[in-house]
Amino acid sequence: MSKLSQIIGSSRKIVIKIGSNVLSTETGTVNNQLLHNIVEQSCQLMKLGKQVIIVSSGAGICGVGAINKWERRGDINYKQALCAIGQVELMMAYKEYFADFDVHVAQMLLTREDFNDPTRTLNIRNTLFTLVDEGVVPIINENDSVSVEEIKIGDNDTLSALAANLWNADLLVLLSDIDGLYDKDPKSNGDARLIEEIHGADRLLEEIDVRGTSSFGTGGIVTKIEAARKVNSYGIPMILLNGKKMNILLDAMREKETGTVFLGK
Ligand code: ADP
Repeated sequence: MSKLSQIIGSSRKIVIKIGSNVLSTETGTVNNQLLHNIVEQSCQLMKLGKQVIIVSSGAGICGVGAINKWERRGDINYKQALCAIGQVELMMAYKEYFADFDVHVAQMLLTREDFNDPTRTLNIRNTLFTLVDEGVVPIINENDSVSVEEIKIGDNDTLSALAANLWNADLLVLLSDIDGLYDKDPKSNGDARLIEEIHGADRLLEEIDVRGTSSFGTGGIVTKIEAARKVNSYGIPMILLNGKKMNILLDAMREKETGTVFLGK
């Protein structure tokens, strides 16, 4: 059995992070079919006795879908306002799709600062445990209206890692628009090779720091490696899968798909 399938199969508490690229179509609208499929997969995992927490990006895209004329407004106020509008749309979609499987959802909007305050952290932890124990799926997103600096793609990688550590998850799954971690960015390098297993993301980051953004990893992939480092230090494995593929989680569990597994040293 592959490491990937073994890890998904044996993990009970799973945090699934969905990247904004996953949820958007080429025309910049929300891919509802795919979102429904991810919800369905989550429910199937729950039927297998697993517990699921979702960390979802995509509020911005949903906002554009709702108020199209703001799309080109680049200033931060409009971006934040768009996320506030889109968050409602996003949650409406989750609520509707999970209801198809008789599952309730709960919204939790957090910032990085919430994790630096012991009282807030305890409250987040208690809420998460209570929701999950009652069979409700918490859907976490960053509270964009109050976190100016963090309004950028990839930050939910960090948020999902913090949530996984706080909840004592068995596994963090990042769903992105790429099959896994490559030795270089596959979008600009046709010969890039997929790395199926990484031991010690620490060393990987050192490599990137040294080489900057030149050959290995730019933008979004760096926060994913950082997320791996964070959860690995708590003994939690992380996997990176292509969330754009239908049934990816279940197929990876059944050894029909590959991805990258990040393990501790
Ligand atoms: P998400 O919205 O899912 O968080 P991002 O766009 O932030 O995704 O990050 C994923 C992107 O990182 C990929 O689409 C890919 O183009 C880019 N990338 C850069 N270097 C690498 C690499 N070495 N391996 C995989 N992807 C990489």
